Amino acid sequence: MSSYSPPLRDMKFVLEHTCGLDELVSLPAFEHVDPDTAFSALDEAARFFSEVVAPTNRDGDVIGSVRNDDGSVSAPDSFKKAYQQYVAAGWGSVKAPMEYGGYGFPGAVGLAVLEMMTSANMAFSLCPMLTSSAVLALDVHGSEEQKAHYLEKLITGEWTGTMVLTEPEAGSDVGALRAKAAPNDDGSWAITGSKIFITWGEHDMADNIVHLVLARTPDAPPGTKGISLFIVPKFIPDDNGGVGEANSLSCVSIEHKLGINGSPTCVLAFEDAQGWLLGEENQGMRYMFTMMNDARLHVGLEGMGLAERSYQQAVEFATTRLQGRAVGAPKTESSAIIEHPDIRRMLMTMRAFIEGSRALLFDNAAAIDRARYAADEASRAAAEERAGLLTPVGKAFATDLGVELTSLGVQVHGGMGYIEETGSAQHFRDARITPIYEGTNGIQAMDLVMRKLPMRGGDAVREYLEEIEAIAPELEAAGFAAMAASLATATSQLRDATEQLLSRDNPNDALAGATPYCRMFGLVSCGYYLAKHALVAAPLAADDTWMADKITTAKFYAEQLLPQTAGLLPAAVAKADALFGIDLAGSIN
Ligand SMILES: Cc1cc2nc3c(=O)[nH]c(=O)nc-3n(C[C@H](O)[C@H](O)[C@H](O)COP(=O)(O)OP(=O)(O)OC[C@H]3O[C@@H](n4cnc5c(N)ncnc54)[C@H](O)[C@@H]3O)c2cc1C
Repeated sequence: MSSYSPPLRDMKFVLEHTCGLDELVSLPAFEHVDPDTAFSALDEAARFFSEVVAPTNRDGDVIGSVRNDDGSVSAPDSFKKAYQQYVAAGWGSVKAPMEYGGYGFPGAVGLAVLEMMTSANMAFSLCPMLTSSAVLALDVHGSEEQKAHYLEKLITGEWTGTMVLTEPEAGSDVGALRAKAAPNDDGSWAITGSKIFITWGEHDMADNIVHLVLARTPDAPPGTKGISLFIVPKFIPDDNGGVGEANSLSCVSIEHKLGINGSPTCVLAFEDAQGWLLGEENQGMRYMFTMMNDARLHVGLEGMGLAERSYQQAVEFATTRLQGRAVGAPKTESSAIIEHPDIRRMLMTMRAFIEGSRALLFDNAAAIDRARYAADEASRAAAEERAGLLTPVGKAFATDLGVELTSLGVQVHGGMGYIEETGSAQHFRDARITPIYEGTNGIQAMDLVMRKLPMRGGDAVREYLEEIEAIAPELEAAGFAAMAASLATATSQLRDATEQLLSRDNPNDALAGATPYCRMFGLVSCGYYLAKHALVAAPLAADDTWMADKITTAKFYAEQLLPQTAGLLPAAVAKADALFGIDLAGSIN
């Protein structure tokens, strides 16, 4: 099993040069943070996640989480030990609010910590990840009493959180959910219904589980407008803030899955379980979006984090595996496969996409920070718009890449990649869920085209494209004319697709192009970030190999990966006719 070495230098580089960490921590909300403290925290996190959590990754796959006959669920022992250390070390507190015991770091710094946890052990990471989304929802929408009851325990990680939306008939279509909430005399609610696919919905790593459950109150309007959000704890907190009586909910079964076997995916039955309304009635979808946008960013990170782990393992293997003779090698010697151009093509593809998507996702996190904490209303609104644009792109692009790049990781290993003991196949299987949950990538692409593209009549996207185009003179002046030309071509193709999709009268014609359009968007965004990295690296590259490598990676991306936009453009603008030309359901013979 491979080790994991957190890519600290790249994370710090991105935080500094893409997220503008200096400016971010100058905002009043972060005045207690300085970049050095943030970077020291990352150094500590790197030690913790590589030494304590990464070695547990294989146990998750081989032992997995298991449901016992009494309905309890046991996580692997190594997970429990690592989780106790996670709680003791306070890693759940990094970006949490200070009033409730958090360190109050920017979310972008929290994302770097989460990347390390995800690469170390994705199945494990889902538990703290969902807990941090629950903290956010409670912090933003909860009453003072609810915050006092739950926030501290969730932030330390003594209790964990879940997101409970999905039902058998309500997956992508959340508005179809049927779980019911009936009022109790004491102001609480009785929640009844069956929920499926609930990640870490039952387990033995923490003393309590705080479920955030979507349900309908009596007389609620149909669809998403009639959904409310409830806090439904596994154990009802007692007056001292400890765990009291067990609530009436149970884990009926857990799923057998392709990957993330360490993460229990639960069917939960709620039978008049006691719950408390979060915020106002019928506003549940809006509140859930607070969690979902955060969670979508985190899922994008899972794709990239798994690709990083897979990349490190592939490089290690390619360095030691001897096969064939590289061009120019002595006749009597076998060469390490890393000397072959095709292996290097795969590794460079992984590296360039990972670095580009890391920048995209971290920048998204910084936009979310600014949307919440920027000094003036106009800056907050601009950041909110940027975060809204980047979230579906980051989620879909980075998770599709997660699958493609971990597959390349397997390919680099040859036959050994297909053999489980190598560990490379686990990353590929674990990655496969990421384009599916937190809104499938098809739903992300629809969100981009139908909701984000029309923002301000398309000006939000146009301004983003202008920002990208504006760096051309700087690239040319720095000697990167070919990179500038490649970025200009890809951006003009994205502009073409943008204008055509904005002008569609028939929604199906826009929806037909949504997925290739979203991919183009991701490709161009990464091209932009990598080009900006090259500009930062240019004056330093002569004395610093790491900086010189940044430029080489950006050039490779601009020459060999960014031009994929040309192949996507026809499908992005093709309209729906060809998709509906065949009776697909009736033509299987
Ligand atoms: C391992 C795992 C963990 C999960 N964890 C959680 C959790 O913690 N909490 C939770 O609430 N849920 C969770 N889920 C559920 C997950 O979010 C859903 O599976 C996901 O949203 C897709 O819903 P579905 O499975 O019903 O697929 P469907 O909605 O049936 O989709 C099937 C296909 O149809 C497409 N599709 C659906 N509607 C449209 C449309 N309008 N236009 C175009 N295409 C469409 C989809 O993109 C997809 O390709 C989890 C699922 C899994 C497998």
